[in-house]
Amino acid sequence: MDATFNTAASVIHPLQASCMGTANSLWIKRDDLIHPIVSGNKWRKLKYNILLAQSQGKTRLLTFGGAYSNHLLATACAGATFHLRTLAFVRGHEDFSNHYLRTAALFGMKLIKVSREDYRDKEGLLQRHFPEMENLLVIPEGGESPEAETGIAEIIAEIPEDIDLIVHASATATTATGLCRGIAEMHRKHKVLSIAVLKNAAEQRTKLEDKGFAAIADIMEGYELGGYAKTNEELMQFCRSFIRETGILIDPVYTGKALFTLKEMITRKVIPPDQKILFLHTGGSMGIFSEKFLGQTTNHH
Ligand SMILES: *Cc1c(COP(=O)(O)O)cnc(C)c1O
Repeated sequence: MDATFNTAASVIHPLQASCMGTANSLWIKRDDLIHPIVSGNKWRKLKYNILLAQSQGKTRLLTFGGAYSNHLLATACAGATFHLRTLAFVRGHEDFSNHYLRTAALFGMKLIKVSREDYRDKEGLLQRHFPEMENLLVIPEGGESPEAETGIAEIIAEIPEDIDLIVHASATATTATGLCRGIAEMHRKHKVLSIAVLKNAAEQRTKLEDKGFAAIADIMEGYELGGYAKTNEELMQFCRSFIRETGILIDPVYTGKALFTLKEMITRKVIPPDQKILFLHTGGSMGIFSEKFLGQTTNHH
């Protein structure tokens, strides 16, 4: 199964960029290179869900997401790859012609538009649309599931033991808890710094505490810039500088916001300079290809 989604492509290399500040030994793990569409943590999260579907003889995957969900897109492409039909409930009615949903549809995903109100009641949606549930594996929003954690935990075996701190963009804390599980299972000493990209740090922290991982991972809050997908000129400028200096695509919603926060913490010495840091690139590079981001990027002289 890894022939298509090659986790060996997720190399680790030094991260040299003056826009990051230079105090620490800084490395990056390139989960964004696993696949151009099913990238980063979305492949890690889907892997065991797909194996589950196959072992149970399911022929369809059903999931949920917003109009700019990396998870929807990843599910659409992975479904096509493994010959599983894909369906998704998409939240809200505005902007259904964006490049995310068009690409998901290209992979054959059936998109079912539902109002924000209906979207909240996922059980109700399932019962109304799929009373039989036959041949259907339901994957929760964002891929959040025990199978997802199992897939994420595998990352730890690919990380050198002498890394002190693993840093990543965090939204549902599934990646965070999966990393912690891997660390606990492998008796590693790494700590995890999960940077909240939306204003739900308390909720994320509760998930870590409930699973007994509060001593391994920390949720960083205060750098959300107002909330999910909210940006400012400084963040946008940082993303552009980073991309130009490294050739690595980052997006302002997830990895760019997390790297920007990491840069701030390094510069302010919130992270001690002797810490060996590994940034986990969780993918999501499709987020750059939007008018909002590219529209402001010009190179005319
Ligand atoms: C979904 C996503 C995240 C957030 O992962 P969680 O496990 O929900 O915390 C981070 N980065 C990228 C690029 C994502 O697409």
